[in-house]
Amino acid sequence: MNTKKEDAPPMSDISTITPEMVEETKIEIAKRRAGRHGSPLKDIVDVTCPVCGSPTVSFADNLVFEVVLAGERIVIPNLTGIRCSNCGDFAFDAGSSKIIDRYTRNKPSGGYECSISTVGAGRLGMYIPKDVLRVMEITKKGKAIVTPLSKQKMIVELCLE
Ligand SMILES: [Zn+2]
Repeated sequence: MNTKKEDAPPMSDISTITPEMVEETKIEIAKRRAGRHGSPLKDIVDVTCPVCGSPTVSFADNLVFEVVLAGERIVIPNLTGIRCSNCGDFAFDAGSSKIIDRYTRNKPSGGYECSISTVGAGRLGMYIPKDVLRVMEITKKGKAIVTPLSKQKMIVELCLE
């Protein structure tokens, strides 16, 4: 069985959280392990996976949360939750979610908020904020290619002459 990818990354890979933050996470986890308030999922063993249907979902205490926010990579190792050993799907428990929140809460997503409005004929218009126009030096109207990536994400490529 290949467990390599489930291991916590070496310290040298953790570029954006400080040693103090890692220490704080360790303390938080140790507290939860020591106290009566352990993970509510800790007794879960071989439950059926909602993704692959295999009875291989169990408690895990070595989950890694990884995200890139505004160009900054955040890696939080040693989180608790459940994981399917068959397909690798996993979920964090409430305590781990709190830790993740604490490290990601005040980080900007790197995006600009646009409002989407009805423009008639069953179409919606998206208004590009002035800041984006300034940063991208957009001064005229034109066409754009929109590529949907998921229900929440799309790529917009401008085709301005
Ligand atoms: Zn699965």
